[in-house]
Amino acid sequence: MNAHSPQAVQQSWQDAAGRVHAGPVHEAVGDFSVVDCACCGFKHVLPLPTPEQLREVYAHDYYTQEKPAYIEHYLQDKPWWDAVYAERYQRLEGWLPGTRRRLLDVGSGPGLFLLNGRERGWQVRGIEPSAQAAAHSRDSLGLDVQEGFLDENSVGGMGRYDALNLGEVLEHLPDPAGMLSLAHRLLDEDGVLCTVVPNDFNPVQQLLREQQGFKPWWVAPPHHLNYFDHASLSALVARCGFEVLHVESTFPIDLFLLMGQNYIGNDTLGRQVHGQRKQLEQALLGGGAGELKARLYKAFADCGIGREVVLFARKKCQRMRPPAETPQPQEHPST
Ligand SMILES: [Zn+2]
Repeated sequence: MNAHSPQAVQQSWQDAAGRVHAGPVHEAVGDFSVVDCACCGFKHVLPLPTPEQLREVYAHDYYTQEKPAYIEHYLQDKPWWDAVYAERYQRLEGWLPGTRRRLLDVGSGPGLFLLNGRERGWQVRGIEPSAQAAAHSRDSLGLDVQEGFLDENSVGGMGRYDALNLGEVLEHLPDPAGMLSLAHRLLDEDGVLCTVVPNDFNPVQQLLREQQGFKPWWVAPPHHLNYFDHASLSALVARCGFEVLHVESTFPIDLFLLMGQNYIGNDTLGRQVHGQRKQLEQALLGGGAGELKARLYKAFADCGIGREVVLFARKKCQRMRPPAETPQPQEHPST
């Protein structure tokens, strides 16, 4: 990282292409500031780590994140994930004819999204940087998963798709517009993108921060470099050659903090409130109330709350504008 004292809040930074990233500073954590960048149109940290620095961070993480509790929790959560993913596939199937069922999951993790697709008759493929997760997907689940990152080197051999899933990927990347451009290249005409990112600096977080003395727990560099919300993600996706079809939220789990259930740093309580959320969603989705759930979670998005933004967008077939172009102000989608 650049040599400067943690007290010196960085407000602007020039990238390797000569673009100056600057804007109002929202938080400063360690050596990083979070600015609302006028150049990019969304909040991100300064300075942005180099690809080499990030590789070092993630090489270390694979060791610590792939611990048994992670797998154990994932298995405990499987029925809930199945319900959540079924809802996402239903949306994709609503926008694509029945003959178009090729899907690429970028950052496919343990393979559960792919598994759900295969069970619904989709032709699915994944690319996943974690060696352990990719091996589990291939060897235990029999899925077609390539180990590695989707980038300029790998994109050429990836094939063509009708749908592309980017779940909790864009917040980690120094160039999320570059990733969306790769997604655009891999999709056939009118193909549909589904992307999920954390909804950060949301009104619930701001209340907790400003009125109750909470620290900005959601600011987590160098893992989370970008801090999107519904409007800034919609604007970025639109700028990268997509038409936004639908925006909704995941459950506003941070409401539990406002209710006095402080699960920050408390894994036991965290699992408990997560369990309550799962119970609510499985009751709605499994109980024939999918339409009510959809309207409610769309309303969360309209209020700017919800822990993550879930966005669906269709590839527009006109020629893309280059990602380096300065973003134009975008209206919040009304879908
Ligand atoms: Zn920027």
